[in-house]
Amino acid sequence: MARPSDIIVIGAGIVGCAVAHELARRGASVELVDERPVGMGATQASAGVLAPYIEAREESPLLGLTIRSLDLFDDFVARASADGGVAVPYHRTGTLDVATTDAEMRALRAQADLLSRRDVPAILLDRAAVRAEEPQLGDGAIGGLMIEAHGFVAAGDLTRALVAAARRHGAQLIEQRRVRRISGRDGDIVIETDRGSLTGNAVVLAAGCWSGGVAIDGITEPVPVRPVRGQLLWLAWTGTPLRRVTWSSRCYLVPWDDGTLLVGATVEEAGFDERTTVAGVRDLLDAACDLVPRAWTAGFRGARVGLRPATPDDLPVIGPSRAMPNLMYATGHYRNGVLLAPLTAQLLADAMLEDKIDPMLSAVSPSRFGDL
Ligand SMILES: Cc1cc2nc3c(=O)[nH]c(=O)nc-3n(C[C@H](O)[C@H](O)[C@H](O)COP(=O)(O)OP(=O)(O)OC[C@H]3O[C@@H](n4cnc5c(N)ncnc54)[C@H](O)[C@@H]3O)c2cc1C
Repeated sequence: MARPSDIIVIGAGIVGCAVAHELARRGASVELVDERPVGMGATQASAGVLAPYIEAREESPLLGLTIRSLDLFDDFVARASADGGVAVPYHRTGTLDVATTDAEMRALRAQADLLSRRDVPAILLDRAAVRAEEPQLGDGAIGGLMIEAHGFVAAGDLTRALVAAARRHGAQLIEQRRVRRISGRDGDIVIETDRGSLTGNAVVLAAGCWSGGVAIDGITEPVPVRPVRGQLLWLAWTGTPLRRVTWSSRCYLVPWDDGTLLVGATVEEAGFDERTTVAGVRDLLDAACDLVPRAWTAGFRGARVGLRPATPDDLPVIGPSRAMPNLMYATGHYRNGVLLAPLTAQLLADAMLEDKIDPMLSAVSPSRFGDL
């Protein structure tokens, strides 16, 4: 592919914003288009947890991708924050994964073995030790696994920082424009929107779970990304905060510096329905109170909902289209769009601006789903 210089990025969620920033800071002229304000898709609901060894519990392409992206995170946050002039809360205080059944404890032991084979610092805890590590756990906790490398980031602030940073490098943000179609014309790319068209010489489709709704000339079967709803609670904590991100099989808890706590998250096949529900809120409240009984005393700030972009194999879709020259995909990040944002931006910018095709792109290639 000839190196493009005028690039249109469709979608201003964490993925599109990370890509726009990376392309702009490497010298490309970038237009970032969204039908909503920045970060109002799945990204606004994200808990911002960065936990490769929980999201992928065995050797897999997802584990390789998420570990590599986590390694980029310190620099990614520092650069976005400095370039964008926006403070981004970010902590690498680890995770505590709690077992409440013998089967869960066996799974944690197996995972501890995997981590030790990879030389990843992790501590397996028995009933007494897990309570010493987190005194607020309920009686159901029989053990745990602490993984120090994990962390969390404020996804909304990070997205705002990335956009501000991209704009400082000359990117243009175009909001309230719905993209309907991508066409190739005389070597250029034309983007038809509900309010006129835009022309560039390359395009990145980063429209989250809505990516399949953008028509593309010559493609009859769109990229198979579907919405998976996630609800999440926002609580005002009272008393001593939790020490780190705390997981159980039913929920996870993220303690913020401002004294609030996020409780995530439901996983629901509910189509494009972006509503919170009584069932979702109740399930999360029950799970949080079982894990940490003090949650009963928390204030209720609200519930959030977002549609995760999921693919049939739970891996993202990143890389060049086979059907249309100069079309790149950056979608389908499912449960890990925040965690995978730095690596996605790096892989795409390397491919688009430096003709460097990273071997990792083969696992996430659009062509695994046909002639996309
Ligand atoms: C409850 C919940 C908790 C989560 N927790 C975590 C977590 O702890 N860690 C983690 O890494 N990930 C987490 N995720 C997943 C993460 O939020 C997503 O993977 C990520 O936000 C996807 O980002 P995106 O930019 O691809 O999509 P989105 O954020 O959905 O952005 C897509 C954008 O494209 C725009 N768009 C769509 N169609 C068009 C169109 N035709 N024209 C113009 N614009 C368009 C939308 O308006 C939207 O702004 C969570 C998700 C949920 C729902």
